[in-house]
Amino acid sequence: PTVPVLALHDGRSIPQLGYGVFKVENEVAADVTAQALQAGYRHLDTAKVYGNEEGVGRAIRDSGVPREELFVTTKLWNDAQRFDDAIAACEASLERLGLEYVDLYLVHWAAPAQGTYVEAWRALIELQRRGLVRSIGVSNYPLQQLTEAIEATGVAPAVHQIELHPYFQQRELRAIHAQHGILTEAWGPLGQGKSDLLENATITAVAAAHEATTAQVVLAWHLAKGIITIPKSVTPSRIVENLAAARLTLTAEEVASIDALDRPDGRGGADPATKTA
Ligand code: NAD
Repeated sequence: PTVPVLALHDGRSIPQLGYGVFKVENEVAADVTAQALQAGYRHLDTAKVYGNEEGVGRAIRDSGVPREELFVTTKLWNDAQRFDDAIAACEASLERLGLEYVDLYLVHWAAPAQGTYVEAWRALIELQRRGLVRSIGVSNYPLQQLTEAIEATGVAPAVHQIELHPYFQQRELRAIHAQHGILTEAWGPLGQGKSDLLENATITAVAAAHEATTAQVVLAWHLAKGIITIPKSVTPSRIVENLAAARLTLTAEEVASIDALDRPDGRGGADPATKTA
């Protein structure tokens, strides 16, 4: 399937549907990343804290897919947000990945209580200047910390990766992103198995109309909303199934019916305002 490519505000571009490897042990990550590349994914999402950068990097090298055809994201962990630590952490991630650069480097969490979320952002600006990373962004920055980082540096993240799915649509942050030209990237796009999202009656009805699965409908909804999405699966058939969501186009009415599923209490993961380590 052809995955749409979105333009980042820094002149680069990102495949809108990628493959995430949260909670996948290093050896397993090497295997499932190889499967994902074989299936046709060209965007991979890992992080230092996942402990699987080495396996992901090995799968990339063994795949034979030319580096310039891939979009690789990794993330700066919360314990390395001081400027010099962040530079060293990025170099160490590149070493583990066996790559000369990553396409996107993200501050993993703002961790507001640490008070270093602006300093971390300054380090990413420097890493981009030095060419170790092509594009830079943040993840899990509450509105206040996001605004502060932009105002302090004059540089808006290319991407903000946040928890987002039909039960938690992040309308307030998305509106701010639009003002700054930031693309929204969803983590936990399928709800991480923490709710009945994939059995929801509205989504099930849309799936039946398209002879698709509910996971595919949720991913097609992300794509229709202009959101970058990085579903995770270690099940071979689902790795293929999730990518095939790129072939599914929902009607405006179907998109609106899923828009209506947003819930004030829909958050499934940690709250970025209080998350520390
Ligand atoms: P997800 O919403 O992608 O859910 C993954 C789970 O959904 C799987 O473990 C499986 O149980 C189920 N699933 C996957 N495909 C399915 C299918 N076709 N049918 C039925 N069930 C299916 O959650 P996630 O893995 O937490 O998020 C995706 C990626 O986002 C991660 O792998 C990681 O790369 C990234 N992420 C980032 C952060 C962050 O703080 N920045 C946090 C969590 C995840």
